[in-house]
Amino acid sequence: MALNFAKTEFVKGVTDRRDFVRDGLPQVAFAGRSNVGKSSVLNRLAGRKNLAYVGASPGKTSQINYFKVDGKAYLVDLPGYGYAKVSQAEKARWARLMESYFQDEGQLITLGVLIVDIRHKPTTNDLIMHNWFRESGCPEIIVANKLDKLKKSQVEPAIQLVRETLELTDAEVLVPFSAEKGEGKEQLIRLVTEACGQ
Ligand code: GDP
Repeated sequence: MALNFAKTEFVKGVTDRRDFVRDGLPQVAFAGRSNVGKSSVLNRLAGRKNLAYVGASPGKTSQINYFKVDGKAYLVDLPGYGYAKVSQAEKARWARLMESYFQDEGQLITLGVLIVDIRHKPTTNDLIMHNWFRESGCPEIIVANKLDKLKKSQVEPAIQLVRETLELTDAEVLVPFSAEKGEGKEQLIRLVTEACGQ
C-alpha cells in the first residue's frame, strides 16, 4: 500500500474546535515558526506550487488547515508561531486553538512533524512546540528545513545542534530537508506513509 501525495487536496481551514476533523482518518500535524518554510514543505510533499500559500502574511488570523492525501489521511497545517509583530489578542487566539487541538478528546494526532530551520539553534518556541508533541504521546519527526542554505561541511554540526537542543534520543528521526530543492522528500513521505499505516 502507499499514499499518493499527488492526490492531495485542500479540505478546509478552521478557527474553532467545533470544526475540527474527527473522522477517524490519521492526522499528520505540521508545526513550525512563521517563515520556517512549512507551506513550502507541504507543497513539496504534494508536488504542487500553491497547495499551501507560501509567504502568507504571518499576522493573519490563526487557522488550522486540513489537506487530505489520497482519501486516506490528513496533513494538518497548524498555525505558525513566533512572529514578533503579532498582537497579544492574536497570540491568545493561537494558544487557545492549539491547546484545543492538542487536548481534543478524539486524540487527533497520529504523527507530529516539527519543522525547524537547519541553520539555527531551535528557539524557545520550537522547544515548547516539541514538548507539546511529546506530551501528546504521538510519535514525532523533526524536519530540518533550508538544507540548501548550508555548505556541506556545515550540515553535520548543524544537525547535532538541533538534536542536542531538542534533546532527541537516537531513536528519534531528524530529516534534513530542502523544500526548495526537494532533498529529504522521499524519506519524509516514507515516514508519513508508515505512520499512517499505509
Ligand atoms: P511558512 O511561513 O513556514 O509557511 O514559510 P513559507 O513556506 O511561506 O516560506 C518562507 C520563505 O522561506 C519563503 O520565501 C520560501 O521561499 C523560503 N523557503 C522555504 N523553504 C525553503 C528551503 O528549503 N530553502 C530555501 N532556500 N528557502 C526556503
